[in-house]
Amino acid sequence: RVERRWLFADQLGPHFLDAPDQPVLLVESKGVFRRRVFHRQKAHLVLSALRHREAEGDDVRLVRAETYAEALTEPVSVCHPTSRAARAFVQRLDGVEMLPPRGFVTAPPDFVAWADGKKQLRLEDFYRFARRQHEVLMDGDEPAGGQWNYDADNREPPPRGTSTLDVPPPPEIREDAIDDEVRADLDRWQHDEGIEFVGNDGPRLFPVTRTEALARLRHFVEHRLAAFGPYEDAMLANDPLMAHSLLSAAINLGLLDPREVVERAERAYRSGAAPLAGVEGFTRQILGWRDFVWHLYWYFEPRYRTANALDARRELPKWFASLDADAVEARCLSDVLAGVRDRGWVHHIPRLMVLGNYAMQRGWRPGAVSDWFHRCFVDGYEWVMTANVIGMSQFADGGRMSTKPYAAGGAYINRMSDYCGGCRYDPKHRTGDDACPYTAGYWSFLARHEEALEGNHRMRQPLRGLRRLDDLDALVEQERARGSRAP
Ligand code: FAD
Ligand code: SF4
Repeated sequence: RVERRWLFADQLGPHFLDAPDQPVLLVESKGVFRRRVFHRQKAHLVLSALRHREAEGDDVRLVRAETYAEALTEPVSVCHPTSRAARAFVQRLDGVEMLPPRGFVTAPPDFVAWADGKKQLRLEDFYRFARRQHEVLMDGDEPAGGQWNYDADNREPPPRGTSTLDVPPPPEIREDAIDDEVRADLDRWQHDEGIEFVGNDGPRLFPVTRTEALARLRHFVEHRLAAFGPYEDAMLANDPLMAHSLLSAAINLGLLDPREVVERAERAYRSGAAPLAGVEGFTRQILGWRDFVWHLYWYFEPRYRTANALDARRELPKWFASLDADAVEARCLSDVLAGVRDRGWVHHIPRLMVLGNYAMQRGWRPGAVSDWFHRCFVDGYEWVMTANVIGMSQFADGGRMSTKPYAAGGAYINRMSDYCGGCRYDPKHRTGDDACPYTAGYWSFLARHEEALEGNHRMRQPLRGLRRLDDLDALVEQERARGSRAP
């Protein structure tokens, strides 16, 4: 039996080992950073996590090499990696035993058995299947509380009259000597060796060790989970974190097992420490969305990532690609882009309804949008992009995983945030100097795709609204003239 376990940099937690004292091989490959551009803070997290893992284990060998192949000089076993390219690479190697994937709740054969033969793959169906199969939030055969879905209690607009949610922030991360060393290395690579990054460096905001990740999880469940449900879709300009968990980077680095995350949340509900609606909403994200998105990456054919059902062909403008938030006057977009630049993280709704929505409205190429998300976020990995960006946010798969495009005008952003009050645009105006780029973009998107969306019954009402507009020609001309300029 092969003793040493090779851990990729997103497989760092104990659930990737067969025993706590199993010898470990880690590879720090500089070539990875030469091949693709990372957010500077994502590069920091990955290197810091690898080096902390080395410092913490008894028999951990960290090999610094240009490529993985150079570092693999003895037989090892490895858990199924998280990208097709990495899997193909592992399969080509001699002396490497590949085990089934870990780090997700549902096993691939169970997903395939669930999905095969279904006309449409919907999160809600998968989520119920997964809850039953793994007995999460279940009372016998019934969902806890008698309901599968508490969306009606969740998704509130932000509370009025306040600029921040009344929840304690996550415990601060304390950087150490390893972080100093990582920062110095990255500075050198960037300035002396021409390795390129996006985004700004800044104090480390996300866990890189299991201890830090567990502390964040514990604090979230005790102090923030109760407010998660109602405000999970809301945005406040002065409170980018709201009551979100900020756990995605830690879970994706493999520091936390998603099973333990949902178990902790369920325990909070069972002990009366957190309301069911919030616990259900949070469980839906991890056991539902995260697992669903992972399995779809492997289940859909490889060319899914180049799908382009709406024939969107524009490349990303420079201001967007380079996170130039200062070039943008639209308050919501400027603030969210600045969040990406300064933290490599914004929560789900800014990703979907501010960034993704803007890109889809403008007809930007889905593959380019997907590369951008992968590059710019601390929790970005290829497996997450397929379903979230190509499917959910850009509707480039023509509806294989969403019932309708997530396109919305300024009215949605106005309802769900406090951005519009301080903006130079007016969410109600679709033409003129103060026309909100989201409102104008929404109608022009519908006009462009009227035919393609006609058969979709969830789009019937918006298309009826489109046909009632008396200034559509002027609006389309205005959008054409605006071109790819920053709004
Ligand atoms: P919370 O709101 O606290 O949610 C809890 C956890 O649920 C997250 O930590 C995450 O692990 C999981 N989760 C929730 N939704 C999803 C989802 N749709 N897909 C996968 N996991 C989910 N998530 C990433 O982990 N990496 C990405 O690169 C990424 N890119 C995205 C791009 C777009 C366009 C969209 C619409 C979503 C993307 N997401 C991504 C999903 C989601 O936005 C983030 O997981 C979440 O915002 C991370 O913040 P959090 O940890 O505070 O999450
Ligand atoms: Fe964003 Fe439009 Fe509101 Fe301005 S008016 S903040 S651009 S939605």
